[in-house]
Amino acid sequence: MNELLRERCLVKLIIATKNNNKVKEIDAFFDTVFPRSMSMSSLDNLPEFEPWPDVVEDCETFEGNAIKKAFELALHAKRSVLSEDSGLVVDALDGKPGVKSARFAGPAKDHAANNARLVRELGALQEAGQATPPFTARYVAVAALALFPDDAVGEWFLSHVDRSKAVEGEPGEQGQLGVVDGVYLIYWRGECEGEILLESQGDGGFGYDPHFYVPQLGKYMAELGVEQKGEISHRRHALQRMVDQLK
Ligand code: IMP
Repeated sequence: MNELLRERCLVKLIIATKNNNKVKEIDAFFDTVFPRSMSMSSLDNLPEFEPWPDVVEDCETFEGNAIKKAFELALHAKRSVLSEDSGLVVDALDGKPGVKSARFAGPAKDHAANNARLVRELGALQEAGQATPPFTARYVAVAALALFPDDAVGEWFLSHVDRSKAVEGEPGEQGQLGVVDGVYLIYWRGECEGEILLESQGDGGFGYDPHFYVPQLGKYMAELGVEQKGEISHRRHALQRMVDQLK
C-alpha cells in the first residue's frame, strides 16, 4: 500500500452517477486511502461527453446493473469508468425494494415518496400481524470498474492486479477480472446491516437514511456525518474490497 501512495499519480476517475451524495462518499473514501492522488468526476461535470446514454437498470441483481452501467458509459466515453449500484434490502418485504430502491414509489426517484411507501408497507404488515419489529434490513452496494487498458486509470489499475487471471466474458464473482470487447470488468460487493424504524430521525445522508437504524452505533444513518457513515457504509465496504485487492 505504501508503494501505491508513493506513486502520487493523479488518477482521474469518472463515476457513473449524477447522485452528488454518492460522489461525496466515494470521494471521501478515496481521499483517505490515496490522499491527493485521485480526483472524481461525476457525469454532471463532464460536458465533453454529453449527452450520456440513459442506461436502463433492468437487471435483477446489483452486480448486473453495476457492470452494465460501467460498461455502457465507458464505451460511450471511451474512458475507464467506476459505477456503483446500491439499494435497500428489507427481510420482511422479501428483499424489496432491492434493485428498485431508487424507483420504489415510481419513476420520479423521489426519496420522500420512497420512504412513505416503505413505512406504509411495513406498517400494514405489522398491523396485520404478519411481521413484527425489528425490521431487519441491509444496504447493499456493488462497485464496478470498466477499464480500458490504455487510458491512465485502466493502466494504473491493471498494473496493480493480476491480469493474467482475467477470464473472457463478464466476471462471475467479485474480484474476478472479465474481458468483454477489450474492456476489463471487475466488481465488489459491500453490505451494511441495520433495521428499518417506522419513525424517521436525522437530516444527513440521503434516500432511506432517516429510517435506517444502525444498532451497533445506536443511531439512524441520517444522524451520521459523511465521515462516520463512511466508516460503516455498504459503499465503503465495497470500495475497501477493491483497494484490498490492489497489490
Ligand atoms: P441507484 O442510483 O440506482 O444505485 O439507486 C440507489 C438507491 O438506493 C438510492 O436512490 C436510494 O434510494 C437507495 N440507497 C443507496 N444507498 C443509499 C444510502 O447510502 N442511503 C440511503 N439510501 C440509499
